[in-house]
Amino acid sequence: MECIIAGGGISGLLSARELVAAGWKVKVVERNVVGAEASWAGGGILSPLYPWRQPLAVQRMSRWSQRFYPDLAQSLKNHTGIDPQWNRCGLLWLDLPDLETALDWCRRNGIGCQIPREEEIEALQPGLHVLRGGRHLWIEGIAQIRNPRLLKALRRELAASGVEILEHRAVLDWRIQGERITAMVTSQGNLQGDSFLIAAGAWSERISPQGYWRPQIRPVKGQMLLFKAEPGVLTAMVQRGEHYLIPRMDGRILVGSTVEEADFDKRPTKAAYEKLYRFAVETLPRLADYPLELHWAGMRPAAPEGVPYIGPHPKLKNLYYDCGHFRNGVVMAPAAARLLADLILARNPILDPEPYLPRQRR
Ligand SMILES: Cc1cc2nc3c(=O)[nH]c(=O)nc-3n(C[C@H](O)[C@H](O)[C@H](O)COP(=O)(O)OP(=O)(O)OC[C@H]3O[C@@H](n4cnc5c(N)ncnc54)[C@H](O)[C@@H]3O)c2cc1C
Repeated sequence: MECIIAGGGISGLLSARELVAAGWKVKVVERNVVGAEASWAGGGILSPLYPWRQPLAVQRMSRWSQRFYPDLAQSLKNHTGIDPQWNRCGLLWLDLPDLETALDWCRRNGIGCQIPREEEIEALQPGLHVLRGGRHLWIEGIAQIRNPRLLKALRRELAASGVEILEHRAVLDWRIQGERITAMVTSQGNLQGDSFLIAAGAWSERISPQGYWRPQIRPVKGQMLLFKAEPGVLTAMVQRGEHYLIPRMDGRILVGSTVEEADFDKRPTKAAYEKLYRFAVETLPRLADYPLELHWAGMRPAAPEGVPYIGPHPKLKNLYYDCGHFRNGVVMAPAAARLLADLILARNPILDPEPYLPRQRR
């Protein structure tokens, strides 16, 4: 059996990994190079930013993936020599307006947490600017992954396991007979297969067959900054309001992010730069001593409520979706890909597929 996948982000690549492991032939069709859009642009936090505010469908998918990630990272490192740097560095929330809800959520889900006092925060992460009498929360068990490395490792592993990665080739249209796709029309000719998967992130709605049901996905721009700091300047992830800091193992520090309705305009802006820079140096004043290395933007694929579409098209029997993960596409990706493969292969699904099924949502 053969599956042709449209889109080489984390969703397409992990779906390819699942299917090739089940003995399928797989092709990934990518209009640019794989792993260069949202999956590269993201922060790699392996948790929703405020998990207690998320729909259950997002929480469940994230929990499954969180348990899977350490093995995935280790296996990729062993097989490819590229270390995706899974790192359980913990996440500290500062000045939480809904601290009680967060604590209740931790208790109900058996998640270890702490309400640190100012001096405990200073011991945990020296140099943070912390408001007196603030409402803070520390969850030690939250991890991050270096997403660009994860994508490189995935690409190398897939190529070695026989997945054909067809880059600089755009999906343009579909050939359909009755209720089946017979071919994917690309910029370099048609591709035939048994099943087809749309995993094209923010572009998934655009490339879906015309005249049939289409997923509701809009692009939501997110901008990030990268400081070239040193190891030890920041050791834990820190979130306050809309923004956060993420320390990489080599000392670099990411500052994220903005949430903007900007159609498909990916150009970084001065206003976002100023906002993120101000947040960074107000939260961790030492950052002002380090050079800023990069400023970029990516397009999050936003499905309604951030619940991705996973499973078969309601009408076209051999067309599937794995898209629309919005702000949580890195953390949800392994569970989404496994669930998708379960549905394609008619296996017992890891999660109840109902909330994710591609169809009209209210
Ligand atoms: C600033 C920012 C911060 C983020 N931080 C986090 C985080 O910390 N944790 C987290 O879990 N998530 C985070 N996210 C969200 C996460 O990055 C996304 O949800 C996820 O990467 C989506 O992956 P994807 O594979 O579906 O889409 P993408 O990575 O965008 O991949 C889609 C691919 O499809 C290709 N494509 C599009 N059209 C066509 C076509 N016509 N033909 C062929 N190929 C096509 C694109 O070129 C692209 O490579 C963040 C996102 C952003 C932007």
